[in-house]
Amino acid sequence: MMIVMKPTATEAEVQAVIDRVEGVGARTHPIVGEELTVIGAIGDREHVQRLELEGLSGVDRVLPILKPYKLSSTQFKPVPSVLEIGGRKVGGEHFAMIAGPCTVESREQTLSTAQIVREAGATMFRGGAYKPRTSPYAFQGLGQEGLRLLAEAKLQTGLPIVTELMDLRDIEPVLEVADVVQIGARNMQNYALLSEVGRSGRPVLLKRGLSSTLEELLMASEYILKEGNENVMLCERGIRTFETAYRFTLDLMAIPVLKQMSHLPVIVDPSHAAGRRDLVLPLSLAAAAAGADGIIVEVHPRPDEAICDAAQQLPADDFGDYLERVLAAAAVAGKSLSGEPLTTGATS
Ligand code: PEP
Ligand code: MN
Repeated sequence: MMIVMKPTATEAEVQAVIDRVEGVGARTHPIVGEELTVIGAIGDREHVQRLELEGLSGVDRVLPILKPYKLSSTQFKPVPSVLEIGGRKVGGEHFAMIAGPCTVESREQTLSTAQIVREAGATMFRGGAYKPRTSPYAFQGLGQEGLRLLAEAKLQTGLPIVTELMDLRDIEPVLEVADVVQIGARNMQNYALLSEVGRSGRPVLLKRGLSSTLEELLMASEYILKEGNENVMLCERGIRTFETAYRFTLDLMAIPVLKQMSHLPVIVDPSHAAGRRDLVLPLSLAAAAAGADGIIVEVHPRPDEAICDAAQQLPADDFGDYLERVLAAAAVAGKSLSGEPLTTGATS
């Protein structure tokens, strides 16, 4: 339910509605606009309906939210959300470029990549310390040592860190380093994990499951949002289709459609969709021109030596040209890099 208050409603009238709704065990999410306040009521619809809120003073009208996803929906919040992560904005006209290796392998590999992508203009640094690998015999990530190297990269470059949390047992050390907690495609429906990162309040990059619908992605985001954490970015990273000529099918249509369904920023991962370096640039250009709010891309100083995803990582030396071209495409969609400042700890 959405309770639209009158432009003349007082704070006391808004509070009276909140108290009444919460009194029947529902949650409230007030959005205070310049003109008026709208209160989202999330809970048992029948209980809330019985309150007959239309009769309360200051209330203009009460509208049902028809979608199963509520807090993430454009019905609930019609304007795009703009997140702020380490001084960089994401969403609206602000484009994010999140770049870095698939996984943290060594100090030299991590720090040199971080330095190169920062100098070229990336807004955040990615790198996995815990890796979801198809094979249990494959490299699983450096774990805590990887997190330590990411912390060093942050200190040297000032770039916010995006890193994956796979297991609730690792949440504390991950939160010590991560400016954005990545929930990988395979964990999109790990609801206990989603609720916990929701409670942490830390920004989240939520990747779409390999075979998940957009509605399922938004329902997963609700687990984070309902804990009061509004800092969620959705990520399209390719889905399984019948096509076998490439790894996954990047669902470009998801960009404009998610934007109709939801106010949350939409980030695109061309690297994992393609699985091949030669497709990363064209997919990035298409995603940026289609209105994506950012790209997360894999970059390695010597991709051929990479421990995982060697075939898809861009050589770090090519990253500057790549970024320039992607930004030209983002400009077509009216977006520019939310480049914030090489402040904290930046070395050059
Ligand atoms: C990753 O970004 O490192 C990753 C493993 O991606 P995904 O969860 O989309 O496969
Ligand atoms: Mn990877």
